[in-house]
Amino acid sequence: MAPTLPAAVGFLAGIHQDGGRPPQRVFATVASRALWTQHTAGQSLHAVLLHSGAPDGAHAHARDTTLLLAGELYNREQLLPLLGRTPPGSDAALVLALFGAYDVHAFRLLNGRFAALLAAPGRAVLATDHAGSLPLYVSAAPGRVLAATEAKALRAAPPGQPLPGRPVRRLPGVRQVPAGTVLDLGVGTGRCTSHRTWAPPLARRVLPEEDAVEAVRRALDDAVRARVGPDVPLVVLSGGIDSSSVAALAAAHCRPAPVDTVSMGTDEADEFPQARVVARHLGSAHREVTVPTDELLRRLPHTVWAAECTDPDVVEYLLPLTALYLRLGGPARRILTGYGADIPLGGMHREDRLPALDTAVSHDMDTYDGLNELTPVLSGAAGHWSTHPYWDRDVLDVLVSLEAGLKRRHGQDKWVLRAALRDVLPHETVVRPKLGVHEGSGTTASFTRLLTDAGVPAGRVRHAKRLVVQELFDRVVIEGRHPDDVATGAVVEHVAAGLVPR
Ligand code: ATP
Ligand code: MG
Repeated sequence: MAPTLPAAVGFLAGIHQDGGRPPQRVFATVASRALWTQHTAGQSLHAVLLHSGAPDGAHAHARDTTLLLAGELYNREQLLPLLGRTPPGSDAALVLALFGAYDVHAFRLLNGRFAALLAAPGRAVLATDHAGSLPLYVSAAPGRVLAATEAKALRAAPPGQPLPGRPVRRLPGVRQVPAGTVLDLGVGTGRCTSHRTWAPPLARRVLPEEDAVEAVRRALDDAVRARVGPDVPLVVLSGGIDSSSVAALAAAHCRPAPVDTVSMGTDEADEFPQARVVARHLGSAHREVTVPTDELLRRLPHTVWAAECTDPDVVEYLLPLTALYLRLGGPARRILTGYGADIPLGGMHREDRLPALDTAVSHDMDTYDGLNELTPVLSGAAGHWSTHPYWDRDVLDVLVSLEAGLKRRHGQDKWVLRAALRDVLPHETVVRPKLGVHEGSGTTASFTRLLTDAGVPAGRVRHAKRLVVQELFDRVVIEGRHPDDVATGAVVEHVAAGLVPR
């Protein structure tokens, strides 16, 4: 029986030619840890794998090359015929075999949610999936390469050389490997070549309505099927069109067992009635979880710790789900979300003009990278694994490339998606306007109130939220404090007191 979670959900690894060792093993992800060391050709590899019980599935070896893989692939069936012999058992073995055939271009073939490190004599190859959905950080200097799926694991790394990639706040030698990118590093020289393996489509396809609807349905159904896993998954369900669609497709793949769904709300706001309509329609085993607002706000440090994100808007979207994951309890679950559908479909954009809609889609697809919105560490901090069907590579290729008039049509946002799922959802769900999780749970309002109660003038709340999130990042990521020991209220007071009057 295949395990519910990927073999590994994160790693820290150090490749050294000078006998050095990687820095601390600090992660927000809760998982078992497997440590091992390997020496080949004047080079050592020290690795810590965050695993779910079968760490051997997360590394593969061929001659003097080793591959570590955190996460999973979703297009194994497409890939296997490329190898034409005994199929490699694990995703790691499959990627290594493909690397043997295609070298760095193997990563252009993969549809998955992963971060990978390949160590060969004198060479380190680091790769992210198309969306960079499993963050990967690197620090390198001649003679050593350090890589980790959480930046905090590299916070004590010795100074590194300049590398391509996104700088990380207050970690000068550390870079985040961009989305859809392979970095090919010479361990001895520190020389680095970067290859892009995926980019959002720039062109738009003109399709008849019915063909577009069918293409969206097929791509999303394939993405959900690839993510359902061997056990009944849990869908985080708001009752909006995005997560309800995922729940409906997952329910079909689980039959005759009912799919599991869960909705969160706070003591101030929830979307329970709307989620209940969907749960009843699908016959899901449904749960409602109410998180008191003070507990929700106490989870701000945990959210920043897990996502390693300094964007206050993104942290506000991620906070309610983090609070929910930390409340779930029970054994490790595979969680499916409706996260991210609005980005390729322009769902946040409520006006009718097509140029404005495509400007929004193009802008959002150009700027998602590095925000860590999709990171599995949010659920990983509670021992679960989350995955997002709308950010499947093939779903994105379809959704982004559709002509804007298919996204906004007949007076509806995300029209093509609504039309694609109308036969499996209640009509009221299909036509329900979007309500963001930060709105539906009252998160934006309660975070704002926390600041104004601390004396922040209404006009400076946005700025203050940014400062709070940065301060939290500094405490839990840079200084390495555990989020349980960082009080949101104290950080808010500190920021409010330091605001220079205008
Ligand atoms: P949806 O159409 O599913 O409401 P959305 O476009 O409103 O999605 P977000 O608000 O950013 O997007 O939420 C992202 C995802 O988080 C949702 O698709 C869903 O999987 C999950 N989610 C949002 N709100 C809740 C909630 N109250 N309870 C459980 N899960 C939720
Ligand atoms: Mg919603």
